[in-house]
Amino acid sequence: MAHTLDLSAKPATPALINITGLTRDGLMRALVDSGVVEERKAKMRMQQVWRWVHHYGFTDFDLMTDIAKDQRALFKDKFTLARPEIVERQISRDGTRKYLIRMGPGIEVESVFIPSVGRAGALCVSSQVGCTLNCTFCHTGTQKLVRNLTAAEIVAQVQVARDDLGEWPSPKEDRQLSNIVFMGMGEPLYNLDNVADAIDIISDNEGIALSRRRITVSTSGVVPELEALGNRTAAMLAISLHATNDTLRDEIVPLNKKYNIETLMAAIRAYPGLSNARRVTFEYVMLKGVNDSPAEARALIKLLKGIPAKINLIPFNPWPGTQYQCSDWTAIETFAAILNKAGYASPIRTPRGRDILAACGQLKSESEKKRASTIRREAQNAPNEDSDHGESLPFAHLAAGMID
Ligand code: SAH
Ligand code: SF4
Repeated sequence: MAHTLDLSAKPATPALINITGLTRDGLMRALVDSGVVEERKAKMRMQQVWRWVHHYGFTDFDLMTDIAKDQRALFKDKFTLARPEIVERQISRDGTRKYLIRMGPGIEVESVFIPSVGRAGALCVSSQVGCTLNCTFCHTGTQKLVRNLTAAEIVAQVQVARDDLGEWPSPKEDRQLSNIVFMGMGEPLYNLDNVADAIDIISDNEGIALSRRRITVSTSGVVPELEALGNRTAAMLAISLHATNDTLRDEIVPLNKKYNIETLMAAIRAYPGLSNARRVTFEYVMLKGVNDSPAEARALIKLLKGIPAKINLIPFNPWPGTQYQCSDWTAIETFAAILNKAGYASPIRTPRGRDILAACGQLKSESEKKRASTIRREAQNAPNEDSDHGESLPFAHLAAGMID
């Protein structure tokens, strides 16, 4: 299956280079190529700028006091540190924060911060605008516009959250934002170069300094890129499995027609650095009457045999027009009990940010639709908004336990 990008939607070459998305090497090269810094001073300048940008979070060259005034002016002619615009920001009663961020005209992505997940709190980031893969249960797959986010746009999502949390300069201890999950919009492995650069930048010790072991990349199973993901990023791996046989997975995760379950499992077993301390997370969305039978729970256990794994059951998060419903709570519990008995930790998580509908794919649609809550209620045919698996079911896949 081709995953062609809509080239007409590519960003125009910006007049100013955004420093945010440059790795150390990239920054050094850009400083020299722009003519702003002499080759022999490039490393020192790079280190200075790096610290101001990634440790202190500065967006103003004039605050960089160890760089001469006239050189700061040259920086401003060639480079930018501007943050993207936050179109919408909401804070839930449980502390979940969601952001709708405008990267350019018509280019809006969302990220969500969830406290008390992972070590302290996790930020769910997007890697693309839209997605080419069309998983049948996923709202992102229905969006028309698709393009890769640049490394700068991925890092910017982390910066925006840290601006909002007041986490500059990078705190050594007591961080609120401790984990990153690439579980927002898009397929990260179709944008591996930018995702890998962004991970290099946010994990750099003299910057945002997030441990690579607290960065999780979720993929629908782009088999040829798995090894490169492990080698280039040393990130934790999450696999959106959702089905235990090819017939069903072909239908709900169409990428399976290209890389079937057997091929995918072989690639996962070969994922660099896999161990009991670095387990793969398998995501499994609970779709009523589709993939939620006890037989499928047993098939899942069989499939994962020998792989250091944890499983996350994601209650399906309905969206207007979807053909699916979330599994009944008893079906989810039965499914979970079978997994528990086989030694997998309790995989059902409490929905978060329910009052602000903080789910990936949800925020953007909310901003587009006026009476979304009414529409959603109709779509899921669930009159009780307060039921455990009604309304938003946000980030069940992110909650505590799944992320170390
Ligand atoms: N494209 C990547 C990462 C983004 S999706 C991937 O597919 O893994 C992050 C997770 O949310 C995936 O497991 C995805 O299958 C799941 N997801 C997508 N839509 C959902 C929905 N409506 N309800 C519940 N989970 C959903
Ligand atoms: Fe894309 Fe992931 Fe949604 Fe599938 S689940 S359409 S791969 S974002």
